[in-house]
Amino acid sequence: MKAVLFHQHGGPEVLEYTDFPAPEPKPGEALIRLRAAALNRMDVMVRNGWAGLKLEMPHINGADGAGEIAALGSPLPEGEGLGVRAGDHVVINANLGCGKCEFCLADKDNMCRDWHLLGETIRGTYAEFVSVPIRQLYKLPNDFDLHQAAASALVYQTAWHSLVKRGNLQKGETVLIVGAGGGVNTASVQIAKLIGAQVIVVGSEARKLEQAESIGADILIDRSKESDWSKAVFLATNKRGVDVVVDNVGTTFMLSLRALRKGGRLLTVGNSGAPKFEIDNRYLFAKHLSILGSTMSTLADFKEVMDLIVTGKLKPIMDKTFPLKDAAAAQERLWRNENFGKITLDIG
Ligand SMILES: [Zn+2]
Repeated sequence: MKAVLFHQHGGPEVLEYTDFPAPEPKPGEALIRLRAAALNRMDVMVRNGWAGLKLEMPHINGADGAGEIAALGSPLPEGEGLGVRAGDHVVINANLGCGKCEFCLADKDNMCRDWHLLGETIRGTYAEFVSVPIRQLYKLPNDFDLHQAAASALVYQTAWHSLVKRGNLQKGETVLIVGAGGGVNTASVQIAKLIGAQVIVVGSEARKLEQAESIGADILIDRSKESDWSKAVFLATNKRGVDVVVDNVGTTFMLSLRALRKGGRLLTVGNSGAPKFEIDNRYLFAKHLSILGSTMSTLADFKEVMDLIVTGKLKPIMDKTFPLKDAAAAQERLWRNENFGKITLDIG
């Protein structure tokens, strides 16, 4: 098969478009002929590598992918057929639980004790084929766009689990989203609006703020003009503060804690700014604040949110599509934050 892979960590130059043996589906797995893959910032972090990350080289990036089932591994485990057959169009849930541990059995598979993420710890979707357990698949209507499906899977399940399950966001609440452009942030804007919340977005580029407004953001704050944007949030909420903040930057936590009302919740699923930073503990206890972290979602959340995608209630924001062989250029666009919404790879 054709794949984009790397033999050692490094910059975009380590990515090679080349031939690589297609995987064989194991019992209970489906071999997927991928047509579209979507990029996530994690792809670039995995390519760059970090202390303690040990990969079987060569490694293939990519958590998100959609295509059709080329073959099913046999035998199929009981109860895992899900009614899928060769030829069905599917999108992959990259959140790989073992299916056996106490957390997986309690439908908390994103807390699995032997957790893997497609494209991070095992070879991913920048390739013509990938093999994954059948329970990781969501069957798509045949006419649903495979690029939109691939673009949805990781970011919508992550945002859904964080806002709805961890954050318990309610109709009528106000949510502040720190950052206007990223995939999880745009998904969060849409999910918050679907629930009936008021959405404030703080961003640094007029173009991205306008785009955030076009998908439903109610109040926009330009942080290039107001570096202490917590004051602007305070004023925009009649000096009350917001109920919920979505902060996947990290280094902005102090401003986010200030922007929250008493008893508010700070939700985080990432740290695009930096992993380590200081916070003032007095804000936490004096304002009765909660910081709620999560990553990915459960199989049930994934199905719930994909049902909303395929019925058009949530609509992924598509940025640009590159051919698979140009994955390096696609990653550069993402890493430089030039995109609004999802970048996908066309696998042909
Ligand atoms: Zn498990």
